[in-house]
Amino acid sequence: MQEFTTEVVETDLLILGGGMAACGAAVEAAHWAKKNGLKVTLVDKAAMDRSGAVAMGLSAINQYVGLKDGENTIENYVDYVRNDLMGITREDLVANIARHVDSSVHLFEKWGLPIWKDKDGGYVHEGRWQLMINGESYKVIVAEAAKNAIGADNIYERVFITEPLMDGDRCVGATGFSVRENKFYVFKAKATICAMGGAVGVFKPRSSGEGAGRAWYPPFNSGASAYFTIKAGAEMTCQEVRFIPVRFKDAYGPVGAWFLLFKSQATNALGENYMQTRRPELENWQPYGAVKPVPANLRNYLMMLDVMEGKGPIYMQTAEAIQKIAQSETDPKKAKKKLKELESEAWEDFLDMTISQAILWAATNIQPEESPSEIAAAEPYFIGSHSGASGAWVCGPEDIAPSEYFWGYENMTTVPGLFAAGDASGASSHKFSSGSHAEGRIAGKSAVRFLVKENLDNITYDDAVIEEIKSKILKPLGLFAETQDKSTQSDVNPNYILPKMFMMRMQKLMDEYAGGVTAQFTTSKPNLERALELLDLLREDSDKLGAKDLHELMRCWENVHRSYQAEAHVRAMLFREETRWPGYYFRSDKPGMDNENWKVFVNGKLNRGTAEWDFKKVPIVRVFGKERELEPVS
Ligand SMILES: Cc1cc2nc3c(=O)[nH]c(=O)nc-3n(C[C@H](O)[C@H](O)[C@H](O)COP(=O)(O)OP(=O)(O)OC[C@H]3O[C@@H](n4cnc5c(N)ncnc54)[C@H](O)[C@@H]3O)c2cc1C
Repeated sequence: MQEFTTEVVETDLLILGGGMAACGAAVEAAHWAKKNGLKVTLVDKAAMDRSGAVAMGLSAINQYVGLKDGENTIENYVDYVRNDLMGITREDLVANIARHVDSSVHLFEKWGLPIWKDKDGGYVHEGRWQLMINGESYKVIVAEAAKNAIGADNIYERVFITEPLMDGDRCVGATGFSVRENKFYVFKAKATICAMGGAVGVFKPRSSGEGAGRAWYPPFNSGASAYFTIKAGAEMTCQEVRFIPVRFKDAYGPVGAWFLLFKSQATNALGENYMQTRRPELENWQPYGAVKPVPANLRNYLMMLDVMEGKGPIYMQTAEAIQKIAQSETDPKKAKKKLKELESEAWEDFLDMTISQAILWAATNIQPEESPSEIAAAEPYFIGSHSGASGAWVCGPEDIAPSEYFWGYENMTTVPGLFAAGDASGASSHKFSSGSHAEGRIAGKSAVRFLVKENLDNITYDDAVIEEIKSKILKPLGLFAETQDKSTQSDVNPNYILPKMFMMRMQKLMDEYAGGVTAQFTTSKPNLERALELLDLLREDSDKLGAKDLHELMRCWENVHRSYQAEAHVRAMLFREETRWPGYYFRSDKPGMDNENWKVFVNGKLNRGTAEWDFKKVPIVRVFGKERELEPVS
């Protein structure tokens, strides 16, 4: 095996990830760090300009509350999030983001992001909370501001973070390796913000073989946030809450503009609108079945019932929607012009953020103004910033959080010195791109406050432990180099397992036993227990991962990270003995929602000493709406 050098970087604040939350953290932390003479360092596995979920751009900013113009209140947003998550949400965290998110959007505009304006100069809304943007360069604009704030010398791109560095129970930095040169990195830090996104590829994707790698969620994010926080010993929350987006089939194009802006309908193959024909089913999921908008998982569920009855494929009636809007113009010339406008908006919606969907439309002769397009439920993803909720359990804001949810520094996990934001922090869904940026800013400022207020001069690092981590991380390269000649073909060898095989094994077991696409998103206690047995065997084999180069070494660690997200998910679904989010997953042995026993958070923690998981119920404290009220735990 080739030699690897070690570079040690010492800093005050370490930001892991270069996505929306990390960029927010960088901008805010740099400001406060400068005032206090502190150093801020950021590490991204990719290049910040185009990394993370916003890499390709977006066509809408999904969280804008409009506080300045009195469009909505913070409480309105909290109500929306609570209802969409079937009652399971940290209202203090959601409110904290909601009160800061507009200022992130105003910063984006100041930095050059074109936001659509109406004739009176107001923002054009896609829906109540969403703003239309020309967002092809959204990420480039946000990254530029972050880079300017902390300076190029403090940014490490194409460095893959693997393990946390610990001093007792404190997080004191991270380790990683370059994906371009033989270099191992040790980042020593007094505070660390984890913002490495969610996880894709834990479950078998719909597109395998012919379209492997195609997914709704970006391939860059592979469970690093979950792994990092779990391994640091942080309490995790909502690990059972996965997100199943219904999107245009096979290229995962967004449906938001169609449903919200064009007011399009989705129907089964018989032309029936499942949101109407299946409406009585919503009675079984009250009070959430009665709210508007109907929670995302319930909308999914009504569609899935049609699919399970053989009434698919499901279609977005694009032609009908476009024609209806165009025909609202009585003058035929104007109607024709309007039709052209709508047609280009439809294509632009994809070209802004999911180019492959436009390519698929072109390849399959789809003209949205003439024919409908198939939509389908995707495989499960972990994205705490969208309609999922999985992530670390973090401290709330002092002025809103109930005492149960407050331990000193906003967005600090239960591990001293470790903060989380964006997809990495849990129970605060629907922050999206803008809210993740705002939450990053909150975490950045809070981490600097931690650095200033706490006495952090007594941190110790154990060189032997660092060497041990280094050899563990690089082991797959050595194993491959030493044993590749022991078979005639390097991809089939009894001495090692390649990351691709490892990933497919994990995806298959999660798909079949933990409620993936093949199992119609359905699972049960015996299935989940079987998944755990198989995950255990997979974990054993992770010690035998082999990598032929740096790229494959990254793939090895991506899949180890995913396997921890997989286990946390399976254990949390097993612990929660009810079905709360049909349409995301269904427990066939516990088919109903049980508010009396399960209207609680499910929190779990990996014991760093014993490597055993502990799960518990945590009460939901209502902050808004009704009087402050503790939801009972039994
Ligand atoms: C398909 C899709 C469509 C969306 N559409 C919209 C929309 O229309 N409007 C909207 O407002 N929001 C939308 N969102 C949500 C929005 O993109 C996310 O909420 C937001 O990007 C989350 O921010 P984050 O910083 O947590 O993660 P990300 O922005 O995804 O950033 C994660 C970062 O971590 C880095 N990273 C990952 N692993 C490692 C590692 N091991 N080491 C170092 N770095 C690592 C990545 O390279 C990346 O820089 C969409 C999301 C998806 C997936």
